[in-house]
Amino acid sequence: MPELPEVETIARGLDKRVRGDVIESVWLGKHREPLKSSAPEIAAVLRGARISQVRRVGKHIVFDLESKSSRNGRGQRQWIVHLGMTGQMLVTSPEAELQKHTHAIASLSSGRELRFVDARRFGRLSVTNEQGFAGPGTEPLTVTADDFAKLFHGRKTSIKAALLNQKLLHGVGNIYADESLFRAGIRPRRQAGRLTRVELDRLHASLKEVLKEAIKLGGSSVSDYVDAEGRAGFFQLQHRVYLRTGQPCLVCKTPIKRLVLGGRGTHYCPQCQS
Ligand SMILES: [Zn+2]
Repeated sequence: MPELPEVETIARGLDKRVRGDVIESVWLGKHREPLKSSAPEIAAVLRGARISQVRRVGKHIVFDLESKSSRNGRGQRQWIVHLGMTGQMLVTSPEAELQKHTHAIASLSSGRELRFVDARRFGRLSVTNEQGFAGPGTEPLTVTADDFAKLFHGRKTSIKAALLNQKLLHGVGNIYADESLFRAGIRPRRQAGRLTRVELDRLHASLKEVLKEAIKLGGSSVSDYVDAEGRAGFFQLQHRVYLRTGQPCLVCKTPIKRLVLGGRGTHYCPQCQS
């Protein structure tokens, strides 16, 4: 599943390529699951709208739209895309072969198409007229150390589970939770509410560091993630613990261990993390 750095990479790529373009027409497939708003509603908001910006909010891709229709007044509408497990948002030429599992196509005035492809159909498309879709949870790249520490106050769950809780922090998934706990030297099983302020400050810093490095490298390519231009990311080459079970720790050579926390495979070094 794409996490914050992958969605950020995809959103930046899309912004670069389709900002300013106008959606001329919309085709939506027959499967209902990917449509969180109704098909007529999505089509009505998208048709004729100018894409003023594409950005990431949590794990969502948000297209800010300017509608031509005066009936909507000057209201900003938004097209919200959640990629789910396998969703891809591609910019293609109309001649490009139509991939199986294409659920939506927006034809742009530049002559290109935006296509939403999703084999497993956990991705979601919706439209909103909310002023500034925020999504749940706090943004990990901008949260202050104080606010970060407060999120975990009194929490009895493991710190790993708390990091994955999208109501606390949005966009952090399994890879970046494991990698940031490793860099902070904290065992994933530790109770979140019992971490010291010094440990939380370390975790705050390492989480930001890991996310920023991953964004710089275009995200981690596991499963079938690709960015808006169909390119893979490279952060998976920097993983120090994630999916390295049994391999020597890059710092101390102790074999990396794996356990299951909250149903998710969790990777850590028993020597470097305490
Ligand atoms: Zn180690």
